[in-house]
Amino acid sequence: MKIKVCGLRDPENIKAVAALGPDYVGFICYGLSPRYVAELPGDVLKALPANIRKTAVFVNESAETINSLIDKYAFDVIQLHGDESAEFSNSFRNRVTVFKAFGLNDDFNFDQLTAYENKVDYFLFDTKTAAYGGSGKTFNWDMLNNYKLAVPFFLSGGVSLDNMDEIKKIDHPQFYGVDLNSRFETAPGVKDISKLKQAFDIIRNKILPMKYGVNEHGYYGDFGGAYIPEMLYPNVEELRQQYLSIINDAGFKAEFNDLLKNYVGRPSPLYHAKRYSEKYGASIFFKREDLNHTGSHKINNAIGQILLAKRLGKKRIIAETGAGQHGVATATVCALMGIECVVYMGEIDMARQAPNVSRMKMLGATVKPASSGSKTLKDATNEAMRDWIANPVDTHYIIGSVVGPYPYPDMVARFQSVISEETKKQLLEQTGKELPEYVMACVGGGSNAMGMFYHFLDDEQVKLIAVEAAGKGVDSGHSAATTFLGHEGVLHGSRTILMQTPDGQVVEPYSISAGLDYPGIGPQHAHLYKINRAQYTSITDDEALQAGLLCSQMEGIIPAIETAHALAQLEKMTFKSDDTVVICISGRGDKDLDTYIKYFNF
Ligand SMILES: *Cc1c(COP(=O)(O)O)cnc(C)c1O
Repeated sequence: MKIKVCGLRDPENIKAVAALGPDYVGFICYGLSPRYVAELPGDVLKALPANIRKTAVFVNESAETINSLIDKYAFDVIQLHGDESAEFSNSFRNRVTVFKAFGLNDDFNFDQLTAYENKVDYFLFDTKTAAYGGSGKTFNWDMLNNYKLAVPFFLSGGVSLDNMDEIKKIDHPQFYGVDLNSRFETAPGVKDISKLKQAFDIIRNKILPMKYGVNEHGYYGDFGGAYIPEMLYPNVEELRQQYLSIINDAGFKAEFNDLLKNYVGRPSPLYHAKRYSEKYGASIFFKREDLNHTGSHKINNAIGQILLAKRLGKKRIIAETGAGQHGVATATVCALMGIECVVYMGEIDMARQAPNVSRMKMLGATVKPASSGSKTLKDATNEAMRDWIANPVDTHYIIGSVVGPYPYPDMVARFQSVISEETKKQLLEQTGKELPEYVMACVGGGSNAMGMFYHFLDDEQVKLIAVEAAGKGVDSGHSAATTFLGHEGVLHGSRTILMQTPDGQVVEPYSISAGLDYPGIGPQHAHLYKINRAQYTSITDDEALQAGLLCSQMEGIIPAIETAHALAQLEKMTFKSDDTVVICISGRGDKDLDTYIKYFNF
């Protein structure tokens, strides 16, 4: 859900609104409005961050004036609030994003919008008044059900703190954002920052999750929940009650962001891979999570959870690990905070990821082998759950992906969402383009993918592609292609899609990459898969290893074998030359060198 704050005027007030991080800010360039100001503070507008889109609102203005004001203030967006035609609206689209506003009353005929399809970027539905908006009055929102076109819309007109619950109930596929204006003012054009802050919190934390995120019961559509033994209930319930207030706290955010910046080395670069772009015929960007401290995206979540554990007063940390990357990340943050750390790891994984076992030991963690079942990630997860049941009071379990009982999937997704938050800003800075056509990532449990998708979920025009491990082939009996082979069921505390026998026993997964060798996916992925918001594909061991070699030799980046699955997917796609593609480079390949060496006989 996008937030636009409209009708700004005064320099200090503009800065205070910008500090809240709206997606759009609007300035009225219409002389009859009480929010009009003849001369805007140009220096303040220029200093706004690029990801806050500056919008100029016009009513029946001449093209000449509109163009000269776009030049003068470098507006990114124009909002046409009068009787402008579709052709007139379209004539600005090579320069700016175009919103066309309509005042709605009970007689409004949605047929008139058809002419504007493909001619404007967004509609804005306001309450019809003689004064072209800003009335503070609402219209009958049930009317939105009559709107059937594919152009996304903003809701305007009387949006206030009093009707947030009604807004939450608007379940329209094109409902894209809200416009906050006169009901958030202390005087015309002067915004009430504390009221806006409350609205932002509600919209960002309660309304955004409605569509693709978790609901208040911990579900994403049919998936999620907390299927846990009674003995774990107090631990999980404590987390559920506290996680949002802890991670939204200003002190927590400051500490989290400081560590991401100065300890992890964020923001991670968004790198334009030129040789790849040439080869695949599109603009291809790598989001370089491999450059993070400890070598993958896993550290983002580990830092978030250790800060949370500290605030919950926990004295001991447990974790499970597959590739060893999450174990290393957890051992690292425990060393950083001086907290005891026990990591469970499947025996087979311990053998194939020996360097990471040594790293964890060096960092002071105890590594406990899981020797049941396939002796891989799912068995390590079972052992960790057992430990948590035995030590409910003093121990926090740092789960390494967007799996497990609610609130873990949502909590981990929020910590990893920094990946897409940065990507959006970086892409805009580097290309002037707000949105890529494709966003791609590999999926084990799904945390790097969820972090990479998070801030693009609402941008329906962005195609999300999640790549699973096909192992030796989806039909080979040695695979981890969960969406292809799996069915709905319960795994590790949540209802999701998993590979299982007809009587519900978990099928042993297989992939050459330890991080993707998992029989399920997180519940949010199961939901995105089921409703078709993201596309799920799979790549074999051979295809991944070849892609790892190609990336090494064409871009000088040795990727983790997990990541190489996402890269291999490029071979199966065809692009238009102006497509922009962002791939999450989830981790570096140092840990996989032995596997690469054996395969290629170097
Ligand atoms: C752990 C890991 C993965 C898979 O985990 P997700 O939760 O699906 O992201 C992918 N890439 C790397 C480098 C990893 O370490």
